[in-house]
Amino acid sequence: MGPRPFRYERATSVAEAVERLRRGGPGAKVLAGGQSLVPMMNLRLVEPERVVDINDLPLAHLRREDGVLVLGALVRHHTLEESEDVRALCPLLSEAAAWVGNARVRSLGTLGGSLAHADPAAELPMASLALDAELVLEGPEGRRTVQAPEFFRGSLATALEPAELVTEVRVPVREPGEGWAVEEFALRYGDFALVAAAARVRLDRDGRVVHARVALAGVGATPVRARGAEDRLTGELPDPDRVEGAARAAAEGVEPESDPHASAGYRRHLTYVLTRRALERALNRAREGGLL
Ligand SMILES: Cc1cc2nc3c(=O)[nH]c(=O)nc-3n(C[C@H](O)[C@H](O)[C@H](O)COP(=O)(O)OP(=O)(O)OC[C@H]3O[C@@H](n4cnc5c(N)ncnc54)[C@H](O)[C@@H]3O)c2cc1C
Repeated sequence: MGPRPFRYERATSVAEAVERLRRGGPGAKVLAGGQSLVPMMNLRLVEPERVVDINDLPLAHLRREDGVLVLGALVRHHTLEESEDVRALCPLLSEAAAWVGNARVRSLGTLGGSLAHADPAAELPMASLALDAELVLEGPEGRRTVQAPEFFRGSLATALEPAELVTEVRVPVREPGEGWAVEEFALRYGDFALVAAAARVRLDRDGRVVHARVALAGVGATPVRARGAEDRLTGELPDPDRVEGAARAAAEGVEPESDPHASAGYRRHLTYVLTRRALERALNRAREGGLL
């Protein structure tokens, strides 16, 4: 099967893309890396009448602004994985991107596309929660910002309004005393995760946790923060019992569903195991990286 016939348009500015999407109405779709949209069109799971290609838009930038790393929506997964700047300033994002699909997918797929697609098992939406990312959206009503937890509304559903684009993603740069880790379990290398966990922790001079973020993918309709785990760690000395308790709280806090790939119980078990591993690695890195 191939896609139904559609009209292909290529925009050269954000304003032009927004206008083309607005004119196309509900039958118009953005094309970025095409790594989710094109397979879905080929299977006729989506049948856009108009496809607006945004690859010529000037949205592949990477820059540091004070304490924030600003990433254009067209930054490719392989850039997140390999860029020295991203690895130094926001290594959790590099580690998460390395888990996405295979090298071909990572060479084409974009950060904005992954967030806009909002697959609940995807690594970058999960990472955006762990990083307290802010998304910049531009549409017919102008420009606005949305915090990552408010952006994901359901499976493949987001806060994007009609004809609105993700144009930028803003993430705080790594601070001294911060550690990070992403853990994942998939049935085969390159498959979507059954469950994935991302942890970001910061320690003070006494080795207490001053900031904890734990985010999960593959356990519900959207990526989720494991707030129970975060609460158990914040302000505490993260000894093995504390980490164990936090991982158990993460597992107790999710409501995964059974599907042909894994039962709900197995996903819950993976949540515990992967959260514990992610926290252990993140804490080790925080200790090695020097305390505040
Ligand atoms: C074999 C294979 C394996 C994969 N494995 C994984 C995996 O393990 N983990 C994972 O996370 N992903 C995986 N993917 C998906 C991949 O990460 C995609 O790149 C990503 O989901 C979408 O990014 P894209 O740039 O390709 O977007 P597209 O496919 O071009 O678009 C995806 C959706 O987002 C919309 N969109 C795109 N950009 C924007 C924007 N800037 N603003 C508003 N809307 C936008 C499109 O209209 C479309 O609805 C895999 C894909 C393939 C083909």
